[in-house]
Amino acid sequence: MAQIVVVGEILVEMMATATGQGFRAPGLFAGPYPSGAPAIFADQAARMGVPTALIACAGDDDFGRCVIGRLQENGAETGHIRLVPDVATGVAFVCYRNDGGRDFIFHMGNSAAGRLTPEDIAPAAFAGCRVLHIMGSSLFAPEMADVMRRAVALADAAGALVSFDPNVRPELLRRPGNAGLIADLMARADILLPSEADLAFLYPGLTPEDATTLLLQGRAGCVFLKRGAAGSRYAGRSGAFDIPPFAVDEVDPTGAGDCAGATFVAGLLHGLPPREAALRANAAGALAVTKRGPMEGNSTPAELEAMLVRGH
Ligand code: ATP
Ligand code: MG
Repeated sequence: MAQIVVVGEILVEMMATATGQGFRAPGLFAGPYPSGAPAIFADQAARMGVPTALIACAGDDDFGRCVIGRLQENGAETGHIRLVPDVATGVAFVCYRNDGGRDFIFHMGNSAAGRLTPEDIAPAAFAGCRVLHIMGSSLFAPEMADVMRRAVALADAAGALVSFDPNVRPELLRRPGNAGLIADLMARADILLPSEADLAFLYPGLTPEDATTLLLQGRAGCVFLKRGAAGSRYAGRSGAFDIPPFAVDEVDPTGAGDCAGATFVAGLLHGLPPREAALRANAAGALAVTKRGPMEGNSTPAELEAMLVRGH
């Protein structure tokens, strides 16, 4: 029985091998790397020792087997992943700009990821569930709004908390209904895992600290704010604190947010005080950026302990 249920997309990532390489001319890409923000989250939560299930769709192809195999290797439950015949597993291509930014081309809505329906969100998956985790990057097809609503309803019925990472992708927010749904989920979630960029987009004009305070006036009991190379900030009903970053050489930032978020939620479920859970999340995020590939930098509890011993 899974204590964390994650709902969303599975995909593989093909990564440009040279910085400055774009999509408009031929170049070398490395992959397939297992990916999809929900899959990265589920993989890391399972590695942290919390029984975790991912509800998703994959193609009946080797890209799908690549991701499902990795999840199984690391202990995540994959029994609720539906294989869709005759449709390919989702793919993301990523290029790295010289200014440190990233460009993506996603094959999602037209892939198996886009076939997830509310019927895939099985009540049986929620037996024993303590946290449902969902994220804004999954709102790439109109049906996903109903998928999310059903997942939240089943989490409610199970007495589980809802954890939400807005993971804002501006092109998805422009789709009809998505901005309202993100606002609804921000208001509904018990645990919020935004990045600084997410808050700047959702609450223009507010500092991240003020936006966090605003969020705590709603239902959310805590906010774990991800600040990239600047570390993170925890804010809860009993106060807020910043966590300085662990010094690392960043190789690839993709996936750090999901890895950190999963470590934070897993820590809370293990009964750690928020400061300890947030510290481990910070260490997991820092470790994540040292490896090339979205899920390659996910870590084990022993690797996190070593990082904590090493210190900031
Ligand atoms: P993504 O959506 O790309 O997965 P994100 O924007 O949601 O990422 P980040 O803030 O990039 O999340 O990363 C999550 C956490 O990882 C940060 O809060 C921080 O603790 C850690 N982290 C990220 N980048 C670095 C870095 N360069 N050095 C040290 N720690 C980092
Ligand atoms: Mg993010």
